[in-house]
Amino acid sequence: MVSYQRRQTGSGRVIGDEALDLPARHLRTRAVWYTVAEGLLAEAEIDDDAVPGAVHAAEHAAIGILPLFATCDRWDIGGVSTALHPDTSLTTVFVYDGYPGGAGFAERGFLRGGPWLRATRDVIAACECVAGCPSCVQSPKCGNGNEPLDKPAARRLLDAVLCRLDPS
Ligand SMILES: [Zn+2]
Ligand SMILES: [Zn+2]
Repeated sequence: MVSYQRRQTGSGRVIGDEALDLPARHLRTRAVWYTVAEGLLAEAEIDDDAVPGAVHAAEHAAIGILPLFATCDRWDIGGVSTALHPDTSLTTVFVYDGYPGGAGFAERGFLRGGPWLRATRDVIAACECVAGCPSCVQSPKCGNGNEPLDKPAARRLLDAVLCRLDPS
């Protein structure tokens, strides 16, 4: 279904979802992604129910911090996270350039993947909020109204991924 959200001016709070009778639009662009194997999810103590909130929160935090690595604005990039993506057959987090053909931001994220993910984890770990806030895992441009988001699970997920990336 194609739809758009109505938001309150100022707060950005979603106040309605309106269906649109239009064909879906396609954006051909470039993306960077990582997958999380089932064993790693188990290691991070993230059960099936918690996976969508964990990857969604990790995706938002990664988008929020990418401007530090790729000199872009968070509005230049988008993300998709899913517990099971048909192209990877795994739990996957994508961050993509929000411009047709790509703009090089995702690629810069790829080239600095380790530091980028570490900074993402640090942002989540350092934020004093309990359940997630705009400084860590909430996004002003989320197409899903910031649902679901599981901040503690996102942190465990990134810890496990980084452990595998840089075992020290
Ligand atoms: Zn926070
Ligand atoms: Zn979102």
